[in-house]
Amino acid sequence: MALSFSDIAVSGLWPSSYVYVAIGMLISIVIYLLKNNYQYKRTVQSLQQQNEEYMTVHEELAAQEEELRQNFNELYLSDETIRQNDEIHQLLTEGSNDGLWIWDIVTDVKTVSERGWNMLGLPEQAVNTKEKWKQEIVHPEDLPRMVAELERHFSGQDPFYQIEYRVKSAQGGYRWILSRGKASFDSYGQPVRMAGSYTDISDRKYKEERIKHMAYYDALTGLANRELLIEVAKEALSVTTNSNKRSALIFIDIDNFKLINDTYGHSWGDKLLVSISKRLSALVVDVGMVARWGGDEIVLFLPAMDSIEEVTAYADKMMQELEEPTNVNGHDFHITASAGMAVYPEHGDNVEELLRNADMAMYAAKTSGKHIYRFFDKSMHDAVVEKMLLEARLRQTVDNGELRLYYQPQYNMKTAQIEGFEALLRWESPDYGMVSPLKFIPLAEETGLIVGIGNWVLREACIFNQALYARGQGRLCTAVNISVVQLIQKDFVQVVAEVLAETGLPPEYLELEITESVLMERFEDNVRKLEELRSKGVRIALDDFGSGYSSLTYLKKLPITALKIDKGFIDDIAIGDNKIAITGSIIELAHEMGLVVVAEGVETEGQFAYLKQKSCDYIQGYLISRPLPILLADRCRRKNL
Ligand code: C2E
Ligand code: MG
Ligand code: MG
Repeated sequence: MALSFSDIAVSGLWPSSYVYVAIGMLISIVIYLLKNNYQYKRTVQSLQQQNEEYMTVHEELAAQEEELRQNFNELYLSDETIRQNDEIHQLLTEGSNDGLWIWDIVTDVKTVSERGWNMLGLPEQAVNTKEKWKQEIVHPEDLPRMVAELERHFSGQDPFYQIEYRVKSAQGGYRWILSRGKASFDSYGQPVRMAGSYTDISDRKYKEERIKHMAYYDALTGLANRELLIEVAKEALSVTTNSNKRSALIFIDIDNFKLINDTYGHSWGDKLLVSISKRLSALVVDVGMVARWGGDEIVLFLPAMDSIEEVTAYADKMMQELEEPTNVNGHDFHITASAGMAVYPEHGDNVEELLRNADMAMYAAKTSGKHIYRFFDKSMHDAVVEKMLLEARLRQTVDNGELRLYYQPQYNMKTAQIEGFEALLRWESPDYGMVSPLKFIPLAEETGLIVGIGNWVLREACIFNQALYARGQGRLCTAVNISVVQLIQKDFVQVVAEVLAETGLPPEYLELEITESVLMERFEDNVRKLEELRSKGVRIALDDFGSGYSSLTYLKKLPITALKIDKGFIDDIAIGDNKIAITGSIIELAHEMGLVVVAEGVETEGQFAYLKQKSCDYIQGYLISRPLPILLADRCRRKNL
């Protein structure tokens, strides 16, 4: 209860002790009230504070909750992204044709995708460090290149790492891969991680290699071809330029290889070449290389020889090796070769010149009887230049009217009459004067010019014969020399028939002289053509019998009508050599075979007497007459000597 001062005064208590008590109580009450009020306020304040704190906490909690929610969302999202990334990664890894790899450079751990391992045919994790990779997987020859390529990328010279190299495959052998990659670097510029891919490029590489092989190696023998030889030789010469070493090129040509091809067929010839190639390769395996130049021409290249003697020693070995029998399809072939050698720097200071000179030396070896080797010398070069000039002039002979035919009488021993002529070719050159057929016919044969020249001879000889007949000289036989190069022409029989038809000469007054070289080339084919001509009535004589193979077996197979004994045998008659007996036997044998015998190069009375005694049918030689120009030949027949 609360009392005011006016209440106390009215009641008369004032200033009695009650008043004091009352005042005291009042004060107490007031104090009490004040106190209570104060506490209340404190409590309220405290409550308010607490409330504020709670509010703050609540807000914070709410904020945290929001944050958590956001975090959760983010986590959820990143998890989703990771899941998606994983899926993409998986798809890429599986869908890609390439193997993928990651290399932690710091720890040297290398991880390769399944496809990558499959590519190599290795179990996963078989090689899990780059170091092992280098040692066990990379082809040792490619390793330095791979390391260098990595360094180029790490040093910033190449923005990417890219290299093709061989890796060992579990199936054995090596596969080619293309490895691409890129590294990430730390703040010091050091590479820390690298990732990339492998692509299997074996098929492409093998195709490339096959093409390269085809471009540089001979398909039949597997030997280097001329392109590779030239490249290798050039490189080798550049190395030996300032040394005391010699480099040699040996040009080899198998003797009579064409005969083997023609007789046994090309497949035999091919096998023979393969076998020879192998043996020659083995011979120089440590010191040089063997290349196929073309056909039956093989070149040995011997770089860095100590001396010319060493080159000669190899040439000797090579010749001996080739002489060893070569077995093809169960048959032993005994072959020989001719070789020409040019040595650097003596015989040329570049590969082209050396090859040219070795070829020239080989040609010289061939023409000087085959089965030998010769070193190049300058005279060979001069001979070739001369030959080239001769060839250029020879091409124009027919057109320029520089060819002449001389006629040498053939004398019948029984009737003592001239019954025929042999047409012998002369070249009246404004540059060289009168050129012997012995000098230009081999060249004409080599260049094929003999075909045109030979046709001209045939026509002229037939015209001459008809002209004699027209002037009332009676019927004479004209013998025309035919080169084997003419005979092997497809239309040879036709050409002869046409000339006979054109000139009107009866075939039996034309005699074709062939040499034993027809036995060397396309024997069956040639025999067939000769038989065809024979059936038309044309006579065939085998010229120079005894100077070549003189095989009686072949003689029987040839459709010939006459045999011309070579001058060599007739010369021996004068000397009184035991070949006299042979000449007699040849005449006898020829008669037994129904052949007419002509002795050529008869110069002496002694020879004449002997041949008469042996019943030789015809003689031809200076004793009767030298070959005569057309007018004299005409007169000679009229006077009948
Ligand atoms: P061949 O057919 O054996 O001709 C005989 C050669 O011996 C001729 O040389 C002739 O002049 C020569 N001769 C003839 N009698 C004697 C003699 O008593 N003593 C000496 N020492 N020699 C004599 P030629 O005219 O120089 O002809 C050489 C070779 O050239 C011929 O040898 C023949 O193989 C070839 N030949 C000539 N003309 C032609 C032709 O038109 N075509 C072809 N493909 N070859 C021809
Ligand atoms: Mg002749
Ligand atoms: Mg002859």
